[in-house]
Amino acid sequence: MNTEERIARHTAEQSLADFFNSQVGNLPFYDCPECKNKGGTIVVKYVKSHDDYLPFWRECACMKIRRARQKGMQSGLGGAQENKTFDSYNTADIWQANVKKAAMEYINEPKAWFYIGGQSGAGKTHICTAIAAECLKRGQTVRYMVWREAGTRLKRLVSFKSDDYESEIEKYKNVEVLYIDDLFKSRRRNNELSVTDGDVNLAFEILNYRYNKGSKTIISCELSLNELTEIDEAIAGRIFEKTLKNKYFVYIRKDDTRNYRM
Ligand SMILES: [Zn+2]
Repeated sequence: MNTEERIARHTAEQSLADFFNSQVGNLPFYDCPECKNKGGTIVVKYVKSHDDYLPFWRECACMKIRRARQKGMQSGLGGAQENKTFDSYNTADIWQANVKKAAMEYINEPKAWFYIGGQSGAGKTHICTAIAAECLKRGQTVRYMVWREAGTRLKRLVSFKSDDYESEIEKYKNVEVLYIDDLFKSRRRNNELSVTDGDVNLAFEILNYRYNKGSKTIISCELSLNELTEIDEAIAGRIFEKTLKNKYFVYIRKDDTRNYRM
């Protein structure tokens, strides 16, 4: 191409690109002024091998945010991930600062588990949600499992010998990062946790699978290691091993001053 042809080709391609780039798209999860919610823009480049100007798709930076938010929606975390962050976690006391430090270190672990037990209302859900949200930000797929609800549903499927059981439990076994909120929590009698064989079997099936696969698992629970061991030694042993023998096994002693819901 001579110079005139080049200018003509470039102008032609660029005006097509400009037209496309001016259009408004309808991608969800984020309002982007850059790509007008199309997810990218067309850029025109000279390609030597073709001796011509050609259009190329350049993905917009907003796609990262969209994917993370979509995963957030699918994770079941919902809006919690927006306000239960590391920044908003209260670290007035040393034990809280230590919990936060362990949680932040845990983020970079590829296969380990994080367990926080003890005192109800001491911010266990907050710190676990912050970890899960950070995993989402890093593009990992997270599933949020509220034991009381998901556990009840799965146990019901087992007792009815439902064909849906396998496909349902699969979601918790195979997800990249699983966050179990309030493991073994169900209806309480006389303030005691009533853990049934069904609970133990279900927890073992999910945790043993993830233990063998080396999948990241975040667990909040009211029980100490001793209490866990009394319920099931195999589960307690796997949790303790995967939390790297107390590096990521946090237990908040029962003490009403630590209950921020009160
Ligand atoms: Zn964009």
